[in-house]
Amino acid sequence: MSTPFSDGTRSVHAGLPAPAVGEPFLPGPVFAAPYHLDPATGPGEHGYARTEHPTRELLEAAIGELEGGPALAFSSGQAAITALLLAVLRSGDTVALPADGYFTVRAFAESFLRDLGVTTVLVPTAGPYPDLTGVRLVLLETPANPGLDVCDVRAVAAQAHRAGALVAVDNTTATPLGQNPLALGADLVVASGTKALTGHSDVLLGYVAATDPELLGRVETWRKQTGAVPGAFDCWLAHRSIATLDLRLARQSRNAEALASLLVSRTDVTGVRWPGLPADPSFAVASAQMRRIPGVVSFDLGTAERVARFLDAARLVFAATSFGGVHTTADRRAQWGDDTSPGFVRFSCGIEDTADLIADVTAALDASR
Ligand SMILES: *Cc1c(COP(=O)(O)O)cnc(C)c1O
Repeated sequence: MSTPFSDGTRSVHAGLPAPAVGEPFLPGPVFAAPYHLDPATGPGEHGYARTEHPTRELLEAAIGELEGGPALAFSSGQAAITALLLAVLRSGDTVALPADGYFTVRAFAESFLRDLGVTTVLVPTAGPYPDLTGVRLVLLETPANPGLDVCDVRAVAAQAHRAGALVAVDNTTATPLGQNPLALGADLVVASGTKALTGHSDVLLGYVAATDPELLGRVETWRKQTGAVPGAFDCWLAHRSIATLDLRLARQSRNAEALASLLVSRTDVTGVRWPGLPADPSFAVASAQMRRIPGVVSFDLGTAERVARFLDAARLVFAATSFGGVHTTADRRAQWGDDTSPGFVRFSCGIEDTADLIADVTAALDASR
């Protein structure tokens, strides 16, 4: 491909097969576990869906094009992350994990990984990063969910590589149109496709991408032998949704910018975090490293009761966990038992019209005071 296409074009065309007369642009989901085999030669291109599947392969091609390295799809983000951890780590290894990242990853490390003899070091995303000597794998999550701190992937990757460690980046919040960790020096990308990548709140999906075939091969063998593959319909829904990724992110980001400006102007809201705000602690690193800032904003309304009143009063903000979807949602994280304060809200801007959303949030904040 000679012309470097821009994000909207890349989203629409990612992973599509070459045009063929009478065939759809994106072939429909193939519902089959086994396929006909050639009795003489045995397994060919497709034999059994856990190992290879045509609909999944098209989705993987799309994600791989956007990430800049071959990708493997998993049945959820957690399936992808745990596959990466278990395929890479051995008893006696040390793994560095974000202290402020997706909490289920820490829970997994503190139970199953610990039982396997793997030591975990927790590092805040914003740093400082400790001496990484003796660390086998550094998993970064930037921007971190839910606090939205950002780390300098290039700098941490250089430090980790000097110490002999591998670097993986959880790219869930940014998506591959927000940043490309492989181009920033990471060895692996891991992500939940459940969030903004697919964006319609209707599929669970995860993926691992890596440019080193040996490394990705190990993850693929892990997936083949443990079986956490996504189904055909979910792969097809995800691929269909990626066509609008650029448009969705653009509106979500614009809504987040307007929302963050509103929130910092109010005296009844504290702790506003959005890496695109010039006053945000993550602004400098995010502007240098990211191609766009996601639609997630975090802030504090003081008490659980005020968050409930706010969500009751809002017409356009659904109370829901997860984020990155076309509908605006908000989640009081402390209700899930993670270590945020009682009034902490992770707010995910949807693709509603900016003026409607801002008016609705303003009215709901006023009503909840
Ligand atoms: C949601 C999320 C995950 C887990 O993804 P699932 O698809 O829910 O399994 C991992 N990392 C981050 C940053 C997430 O937000």
